[in-house]
Amino acid sequence: MISTGEVSAVEVATAHLDRIAAVDDRVHAFLHVDRAGALEAAAAVDRGEITGPLAGVPIAVKDVVTTKGVPTTAASKILEGWKPPYDATIVERLKKAGMPILGKTNMDEFAMGSSTEYSAYGPTNNPWDLGRIPGGSGGGSAAALAAYEAPLAIGTDTGGSIRQPGAVTGTVGAKPTYGGTSRYGLIAFSSSLDTPGPCARTVEDTALLHAVIAGHDPRDSTSIPQPVPDVVAAARLGATGDLTGVRLGIVKEFAGDGSEPGVTAAFQESLQKLVKLGAEVVEVSCPHFEYALPAYYLIAPSECSSNLARFDGVRYGLRAGDDGNRSLEEVMSLTREAGFGPEVKRRIIIGTYALSSGYYDAYYGQAQKVRTLITRDFQSAFEKVDVLVSPTTPFVAFPFGSRTSDPYQMYLADLFTIPTNLYGGPAISVPCGLSEGLPVGFQIMAPTLADDRMYRVAAALESAVGTFTPPAL
Ligand code: GLN
Repeated sequence: MISTGEVSAVEVATAHLDRIAAVDDRVHAFLHVDRAGALEAAAAVDRGEITGPLAGVPIAVKDVVTTKGVPTTAASKILEGWKPPYDATIVERLKKAGMPILGKTNMDEFAMGSSTEYSAYGPTNNPWDLGRIPGGSGGGSAAALAAYEAPLAIGTDTGGSIRQPGAVTGTVGAKPTYGGTSRYGLIAFSSSLDTPGPCARTVEDTALLHAVIAGHDPRDSTSIPQPVPDVVAAARLGATGDLTGVRLGIVKEFAGDGSEPGVTAAFQESLQKLVKLGAEVVEVSCPHFEYALPAYYLIAPSECSSNLARFDGVRYGLRAGDDGNRSLEEVMSLTREAGFGPEVKRRIIIGTYALSSGYYDAYYGQAQKVRTLITRDFQSAFEKVDVLVSPTTPFVAFPFGSRTSDPYQMYLADLFTIPTNLYGGPAISVPCGLSEGLPVGFQIMAPTLADDRMYRVAAALESAVGTFTPPAL
């Protein structure tokens, strides 16, 4: 409609900004709204300065991604008021594509969590039920989509933070192949796992955004110097609803995993729908997947304990207790005490311990070996099947406060998403049904660099089950 002149990009941006103004006091998806910046970018599209498939389509960006001159906090007190001096590569690409950035979305502090309850600025509420969590860490991006505050959003996925929020809000979220999207300008959590990716309400929209942000970046040393698979064509092919000859692997070890019955039922029904489209279901064994969660909770905290050392009260944001009489170390310590929340502190302490001499081999080194075994499980599974499928998360959106007292209960939300991060392949969550009136996500995992394959299956599933819209706010 924008390209045919039926509506202007400014009208589209204004409609979304107005929607944010109308509902975000209840949803709290945004930490910062950039009305002026979004309208200026939209006006440039209306002047014909930028064209392209997504020119004029507004987007929300997770607050762990740097945006030049626009506050970026990673939902932490330690970065309150910080305005980055540069754009992340993916943000540069959004701007080049003419996409107005509506604002920055809420998340768990430094992307550590599965419910957005660990945001230092208060949680985001799930538009399906405002008393429940929107998933995490990217709960703000997912909730903004479900509440129609934004048509597209950016997330980051270290252990499931794009897919799990997608699942519990009835939206789509894709984690690209590690290295397929640039990490330059992401506030680092766990560098060997962090992967930015697209979030939307439909599979094709997700693919269109994927195509804008993906591709080699010389400023990220782990970026893959290869062409991006044609994910948009794959999504359009899948939407025709033909999966003849496609082999779907179900992981034996995921059975008896403690999924809610309603989640298992929605997953099984969807699987049967894919069989009707011509797919074949094959059971595969991935014997090391049961160690994925413990391996992740050594590797991710270890890397975060190193990455977060830069927040020292000298270079960024908050500085506490600097009265002119205290030593550098005292100020650093007071700043971190005041600036980091409990979950971030827990991870730094676990990571520092796991990396300490004497324990390194027993914990971090051992976890790296397990990571290799998990990668081999994926490789041997993909000799037998084209993709692996599972529920995205074992449970639907839970009520606030129900999993914060025991960290392990929160970590379980990522039981099915974490193996993919340890391996580095792509995976997507697509809404597949409801359980007790709340959305259930279906996960499709593909081999590294075969991002197009997961989009094909995802679009076929969507053609069979439809899309899901929450009750009006
Ligand atoms: N929930 C997981 C964690 O807390 C994953 C987070 C993420 O993907 N950023 O680490």
